[in-house]
Amino acid sequence: MKKDSKVVLKDSNNPYESMLARFDVAAKIIKLDEATHNVLKVPSKQVTVSLPVYMDDGTTKVFEGYRIIHSTILGPSKGGIRYSTLVDVDEVKALAAWMTWKCAIADIPYGGAKGGITCDPSKMSVGELERLTRAYTIAMSDVFGENKDVPAPDMNTGPREMAWIVDTYSKIKREYIPGVVTGKPLHLGGSLGRTEATGRGVMIAAMEAMKKLKMNPSKTKAAVQGFGNVGSYAAHFFVEQGIKVIGISDAWGAYYNPKGIDIAKAIAHSETHGKRLTGLKNVEKITNEELLELNVDLLAPCAMENQITHKNVHKLKAKLIVEGANGPTTADADAILQDKGILVIPDILANGGGVTVSYFEWVQNRNGYYWSLEDVIKRADDSMIKAFANCWGDATKYKTTMRIGAYIFALNKVANAIKSRGHF
Ligand code: NAD
Repeated sequence: MKKDSKVVLKDSNNPYESMLARFDVAAKIIKLDEATHNVLKVPSKQVTVSLPVYMDDGTTKVFEGYRIIHSTILGPSKGGIRYSTLVDVDEVKALAAWMTWKCAIADIPYGGAKGGITCDPSKMSVGELERLTRAYTIAMSDVFGENKDVPAPDMNTGPREMAWIVDTYSKIKREYIPGVVTGKPLHLGGSLGRTEATGRGVMIAAMEAMKKLKMNPSKTKAAVQGFGNVGSYAAHFFVEQGIKVIGISDAWGAYYNPKGIDIAKAIAHSETHGKRLTGLKNVEKITNEELLELNVDLLAPCAMENQITHKNVHKLKAKLIVEGANGPTTADADAILQDKGILVIPDILANGGGVTVSYFEWVQNRNGYYWSLEDVIKRADDSMIKAFANCWGDATKYKTTMRIGAYIFALNKVANAIKSRGHF
């Protein structure tokens, strides 16, 4: 494998810079023409809105919300909505671009977008969250659309928020339009298999990679960072494959048991303790830093950006990293991972299972015909296996890493569409 050119970043914690750094490496390898390069390095639309919301104590608080559309070249833009105090423009821009690459890799007819509201949902009541979500939907009602831009859940949003969005949007448009958003509750047109789809895809990507590395699942030890939608299901499906999960974590702490953690019990604990692992039995408490550095074969970062950096990458022991989260590795850690011979299955491939089943949900909504769970799982698993093979193929062809191979596959596809559609 050729060594990728070293990446120098002004701010290695800036996810947009991290995205552009990989994009530039891939663009150089495939000799992407300058015009297409210029089109793709910036988002096509950026919308910022101020959202005044009545709080329960009678005050009014003004929140900032974003929707950033990176590309609609391959179809309506697709991407989740994140509620967090850390949401800012550069984060949303990076996440939007990653969605473009992810949808191209998953081979679904979508472009990429992302939304976010800077807020602390853990300090807000359900009523405040509902008013905020409905205010955001009204402000974005000309941006969203079944054929334009289709949001979905991301960190701190889920079926409940998607139900508020579909309701508000449908009331504005005076007709029920379930296909405007995915990740809805089942009884509102959600798809079977959507909730667990990202975590399941992470497992399928890990299994494909383990075949390449000739790793035996029953002799594999894993650590999973983050125990929300992606991490808890990834851990669950790892265990189903015979993998021993010895470390898990959430925002409040990390937990270790060398004999293997009972993931079913951890999920039940988290569900009954406000989505926290605090107080979990039969585990030793460790720090989140220690979790990443555990003596495991497989590490699945499933929490957030910038967790594997030039500062801690030297201490990692895993031979395989499967990125459930978006952007968990900073670009300046890539070369070190390559030097250490660690195989990284990048976010834009590994966590594409969620958007794939979101696409299935949208297809079902538009047809008014709903598939069985078996159908959804079979199609989603096949899609991940094919996407993995495509990225592996380009990584091999261009003698580069899986991450750059994945960018190359996506870039070639999007660039071809841009060339065929043209500009005016
Ligand atoms: P979530 O809100 O359900 O869960 C996030 C989890 O990470 C929680 O357990 C939280 O406590 C934990 N966490 C937060 N900060 C942490 C830290 N510093 N250290 C350890 N744990 C921490 O969110 P999610 O939907 O599971 O998303 C997780 C990641 O996966 C995000 O990067 C998201 O963009 C990405 N992703 C999600 C989906 C999806 O379908 N939900 C799809 C693709 C990618």
